[in-house]
Amino acid sequence: MTFDDFNFKPDLLEGLYSMGYKQPTPIQEQAIPVILNNKDLIACAQTGTGKTAAYLLPIIEHILEAPTRHLNTLIIAPTRELVLQIDQQIDGMGYFCSVGSIAIYGGNDGFTWEKQKHALREGVDIICATPGRLMALLQNGDINFEHLQHLVLDEADRMLDMGFFDDIRSIINYLPKQRQTIMFSATMPSKIRMLANQIAKDPEQINIAISKPAAGIVQQAYVVYDNQKEALVKSILKNPDYQSVIIFSSTKENVKLLEKNLKREESSLKAFHSDLEQAEREEIMREFKSRRLRILIGTDILSRGIDVDGISLVINYDAPPDPEDYIHRIGRTARASKAGVAITFVNQRDQGKFSRIEDLMGYEVTKMPLPPELGPGPAYDPEANKKEGFKRGPANGKGNSNYKGKKKSRP
Ligand code: AMP
Repeated sequence: MTFDDFNFKPDLLEGLYSMGYKQPTPIQEQAIPVILNNKDLIACAQTGTGKTAAYLLPIIEHILEAPTRHLNTLIIAPTRELVLQIDQQIDGMGYFCSVGSIAIYGGNDGFTWEKQKHALREGVDIICATPGRLMALLQNGDINFEHLQHLVLDEADRMLDMGFFDDIRSIINYLPKQRQTIMFSATMPSKIRMLANQIAKDPEQINIAISKPAAGIVQQAYVVYDNQKEALVKSILKNPDYQSVIIFSSTKENVKLLEKNLKREESSLKAFHSDLEQAEREEIMREFKSRRLRILIGTDILSRGIDVDGISLVINYDAPPDPEDYIHRIGRTARASKAGVAITFVNQRDQGKFSRIEDLMGYEVTKMPLPPELGPGPAYDPEANKKEGFKRGPANGKGNSNYKGKKKSRP
């Protein structure tokens, strides 16, 4: 199948070809015809599968088929980074068409706020917004949804995790009942299914690579004591093959500390966290994308939707809190079919968590021997540590609808 098969307008085709897209990805093959056909859609797809273009392309096509001067589409996404990326993709795909979009997110200054309001008054086709800032605009009566035709909820499970559900329900009350509703989620916990049933009409359902890491990711784990982690990360970073690296740590404080400790040996490194100003965050992402910065250290704020190609290594300095976070973190490497390495440090406390991640994926991750100079690490005995569990309990692992059943032995 090629993009020509969808009969997109030539200007839209030109835009997507100029972005280097040659062939539709599986989620695009399945979702585009459904959306073009005006059906509601519930899709289970991770970041990295091409899900953003899967809904943007048919929506832009709809807009081009019947241009109006009114707001046509509302896209709600959990973080400002994701909102900005969606907006950039609209700019890219719509480069040769006259489709206008605006990104609305919190954390910017009064000037940007005014600019956003001005753009809304002038009229745009698509709004991409985080739920909190959108609610503020709605309460001020700044947005007219009368002619809205499409609602997209992107990364719905993340929005649920971040406590945005009430906001989303309120926002939906402002929208016309007659609309196309499209929902993308990396996982489908029961609360998301319930919401989907409430807001979508007779939706088509698509499942793509449910909570499975992309095939190109080489996954490894080191079983370590906490006091071995820093020496281990330094030893791994000595490998010159790793030109573009993301290190995830559990808290903002740990991220800052790690930045300080690693800076002594590695200058091309920066921390990315919510204490930074939006402009600083954008500048850091630009440096990282353009390879002026080798290493980015961050919390899970970095794990969703960050769209940087060619990341060679992801290190989980602390094991992620749950399986979905693991998949999202390691999905930062091996994007769009490229290869990459994901290494997780597993201390004793995290062994139970990590074993459940393996349960979800249906296989064990290779445990690597520690460099001899670090001395022996602890034994890997997840059963003994399993009761440590997840922040949200076992329902997130084995009780999850994505759970694939019995763990296979190590390949
Ligand atoms: P997403 O899953 O939407 O975060 O997309 C992941 C990455 O794949 C982004 O960098 C997209 O620009 C890229 N991408 C999306 N669709 C295609 C395609 N058909 N061919 C090549 N790259 C794509």
